[in-house]
Amino acid sequence: MCVSPTTEALVRTAIGLAAEAGRRGDPPFGALLVSPHGEVAAMASNRQVSGNDPTAHAEIELLRGAARDGHRPPLAGYTVVVNAEPCSMCASALVKAALSALVYGAPHEPHLDPDIDVAAVFARARRPPSVTAGILATEAAAEIASFRGRSSSSPID
Ligand SMILES: [Zn+2]
Repeated sequence: MCVSPTTEALVRTAIGLAAEAGRRGDPPFGALLVSPHGEVAAMASNRQVSGNDPTAHAEIELLRGAARDGHRPPLAGYTVVVNAEPCSMCASALVKAALSALVYGAPHEPHLDPDIDVAAVFARARRPPSVTAGILATEAAAEIASFRGRSSSSPID
């Protein structure tokens, strides 16, 4: 697979956003929205704990913020970049946003509940985004594992 430095740089930015979330005590997940022109249109990170919102995953926060700034569905030509594979809720949200492409780093964690991966959600979508997986996966997974190791509570998706 040929990976452009730009794609790696975008995933690295998502990893940085995830680190910010982790420092707040939120699960370490970050996401960016890239416009059809290749510009970063929005950035967000997980706020489940700090925002007292179980649905405040990075991708949901991203889509909400982007829409407020005028980037509303259908997001044709847009790409969402995440440090890790989206959960089934977020994968469904990406389909509802009519996104064109998804790029992510680490694979989904086995504790996810429901345990439905992106491929399974997108297989049921009429217009699924294209998927590029595994960019900087080792680095992204290590960050998440480090957070899980520090967290004394049960895992939060
Ligand atoms: Zn999610």
